[in-house]
Amino acid sequence: MRYVSTRGAAPVLGFDEVVLAGLAADGGLYVPEEWPSLSEREWRSLRGLSHAELALRVMLPFVGAALTEEELADLVDAAYARFDHPAVAPLRQIGPHDWMMELFHGPTLAFKDHAMQVLGPLFDLLLTRAGRRVTIVGATSGDTGSAAIEACRDRDAIDVFILHPKDRVSEVQRRQMTTVQSANVHNIAVNGTFDDCQALLKSLFADATFRDEVGLSAVNSINWARIMAQVVYYAWAGVALGAPDRSLGFSVPTGNFGNVFAGYVARQMGLPIDRLVVGSNRNDILSRFLETGTMQQETVIPTLSPSMDIQVSSNFERLLFEMHGRDSIEVRAAMESFRQSGSYSVPDDLHQELLGLFRGHRLTDEETSEAMRIILETTGELVDPHTAIGIVAGQVAGRRDEGGVTVSLATAHPAKFPDAVEKATGIRPPLPSRLADLYQRSERLVEAPNDTRVLQQIVRDGIRR
Ligand SMILES: *Cc1c(COP(=O)(O)O)cnc(C)c1O
Repeated sequence: MRYVSTRGAAPVLGFDEVVLAGLAADGGLYVPEEWPSLSEREWRSLRGLSHAELALRVMLPFVGAALTEEELADLVDAAYARFDHPAVAPLRQIGPHDWMMELFHGPTLAFKDHAMQVLGPLFDLLLTRAGRRVTIVGATSGDTGSAAIEACRDRDAIDVFILHPKDRVSEVQRRQMTTVQSANVHNIAVNGTFDDCQALLKSLFADATFRDEVGLSAVNSINWARIMAQVVYYAWAGVALGAPDRSLGFSVPTGNFGNVFAGYVARQMGLPIDRLVVGSNRNDILSRFLETGTMQQETVIPTLSPSMDIQVSSNFERLLFEMHGRDSIEVRAAMESFRQSGSYSVPDDLHQELLGLFRGHRLTDEETSEAMRIILETTGELVDPHTAIGIVAGQVAGRRDEGGVTVSLATAHPAKFPDAVEKATGIRPPLPSRLADLYQRSERLVEAPNDTRVLQQIVRDGIRR
């Protein structure tokens, strides 16, 4: 499988090179040259497989010749072995046609482990094979950071630096990152928002000299391998709930658009998905875009669902590329307009086409709290704020064709956001036993201003050469 950049000016690369590159050299995002697709018979043949077996079948076409089937099989086996539920992504029924898929059984209690637990060993394998090492710099709104750290800690070929917006992630989220005592792990609290962190990250990548000097690489959701690994659980839910003989809607609490884009990929592969609902908090750039056809950036407001406090959804560029018939000139124009004026619009016909599949729904913090309370009352499930947004968005904006089902993605364990959950429901969710002493562990982090030069120095000083 070969990969092209959404901006059309970067070299066409193989899977291994795309994984190690992260962002494309022209500032674009890599996507497969063509979408692999499974026939209905092939979809049916996935029924009854374990999560790891199904993952192998879903990912193999994207990997191509970069890994042997055996290498990929070993990798996914090891990745899912770190999850603490034998189903990996258990489905729970929460209504007559409504399900919730628990994606929080990995080491850091959020769905990002699904991708990171694959990406970490994948990086290590590809680097070791190439005799190289990398410096991973990531920006996190809360959950990516700990997932990346858990996936990359103590790996010889990797140094990892994670930027988080100071005081804008929950204490559990921060401690999951800062209490890791590994020499190759560096936490940086930036005086700014998550979007500032993302902009800093982009500026590091834009500096070619620095990029080469430290061997910069990314594990943010712009990395293609993360999207690929996330396609797996859409296929998992779909096959378990009767696809391809039953249509599916998914509702996804959304920030960077990486998770929901993986659902789009599953659809491109032939899974009969007829609705993708984008749930947001008051940082509702995507919901507004779906209403108006204009992507209009506003300032970030802190909310009860901090992993979605985002106003620049990087992965949307991949969908834009598809919508424009893979015309990279159109993508470049839109991105340039967004960079200069904080906004771009899509033509009416494309907007209408988009609404055939996507819908958005936004909740205020008050509505989110109310939702957590009602969900507990009606289903017995204690859910985190992000999950609550997904469930309500699915109820409001999900389409249910005759016989179809809606699956809401439960993206975080409630214990990751104990204050918000307790305030809404009166119940303080306990941490799983393997994390029970998190509040007693000591923290390691440095503070930094929102400044590229300072950040570059921190990275230079920290890497093991
Ligand atoms: C990252 C995250 C999201 C948003 O996912 P995207 O792929 O950025 O859209 C939603 N919920 C939780 C708990 C997250 O950690």
